Amino acid sequence: MQCSIKGSLFDHSMRLGLADVVEKIAEGQRLSSSDALRLYECPDINFVGSLAEQVSRDKNGAVATYILNRYLNYSNVCILSCQFCAFYRREGQDGAFSYSIEELVRETTDAVEKGATEVHCVGGLHPKLPYSYYLDLVREIKERVSQVMIKAFTAVEIRHLAKRIAKKPIIEVLEDLASVGLDSLTGGGAEIFDPVIRRKICAGKETADEWIEVHRLWHSLGKKSTATMLFGHVESLNHRIDHLSRLRDLQDETKGFCAFIPFAFEPENTKLGNIKKATGIDFLKTIAVSRLFLDNFDHITAYWISSGMAIAELALNFGADDLHGTIEKEKIFHMAGAKTPAGQTVTRLQKTIENAGKIPIRRDTYYRKLDYCFL
Ligand code: SF4
Repeated sequence: MQCSIKGSLFDHSMRLGLADVVEKIAEGQRLSSSDALRLYECPDINFVGSLAEQVSRDKNGAVATYILNRYLNYSNVCILSCQFCAFYRREGQDGAFSYSIEELVRETTDAVEKGATEVHCVGGLHPKLPYSYYLDLVREIKERVSQVMIKAFTAVEIRHLAKRIAKKPIIEVLEDLASVGLDSLTGGGAEIFDPVIRRKICAGKETADEWIEVHRLWHSLGKKSTATMLFGHVESLNHRIDHLSRLRDLQDETKGFCAFIPFAFEPENTKLGNIKKATGIDFLKTIAVSRLFLDNFDHITAYWISSGMAIAELALNFGADDLHGTIEKEKIFHMAGAKTPAGQTVTRLQKTIENAGKIPIRRDTYYRKLDYCFL
């Protein structure tokens, strides 16, 4: 798709030595990894943001979406201890929790009564919850709150179910979950794909290839998921670009990702507490470079839980076209020390989008618009 780059950006690109990159963008050509690195390293963040925003508007117009959703963390009991994670507990440890299906259905009912169209459900790798718990969880929610969409489980949870709990092939676990009504996998657990970085931040977790394989298999069933990246810890810009590149390759193959959601590492209560949190500028650049590099992704989400609302609002003019959701009860980032609220009102989300000069439209789990749009 060709892009309508303004003349002033072309002029400016010459001064910045990026004319060839801008020409590629204007002609709808794919950017290389070295193009992405040059954009990341460009000192003029507004220039990179303007380019990304132009691409975003060509794809999605002046609309920015949001979703009414609620996070349901069914359990934080986990057999792993990823260095970046403040959410997990061992079984019986102070602060460990596991909810019954009845409690989770009640939460879902309450959320839907307040307008939610999605529940987002992830947890730790529980050593004892039986396979039937996961299937019943999805089935019960779908049967009793049929209008809600369920986005649940990271790739590592799926592998845990397949290898340790159900002891059956991953594809069969995915088919089982699809048959009881799972709408979307979550994108969590991708972190940074590079194996050296994974050893430093989440030793023992699945490899990049294993994460990719779970999503590939899910997409092969005609199902959707999102993709994420956890940045701002021990990785370099090249590691981020390698991560984006692997996602872009899989999207070429399956077209199963609805959106890309980058978020910054929250160091406070983790084993990596000495690391300084990524700056707002880093967040905005990551949004912008992602928008420019991931040419086969329709949507880029500004995850306000990670960035805060002020930076998320700016991100809506740096290539993002989605503000994620009301969320309501986020635990994972907050147990790691996030200072953002655990949820937002619809009014606040709409206002933030309007302040960014865009038109707020409610979406569903697959990023389909739910409100009529006159554009
Ligand atoms: S990130 Fe997930 S897999 Fe890793 S320790 Fe935390 S809950 Fe467990």
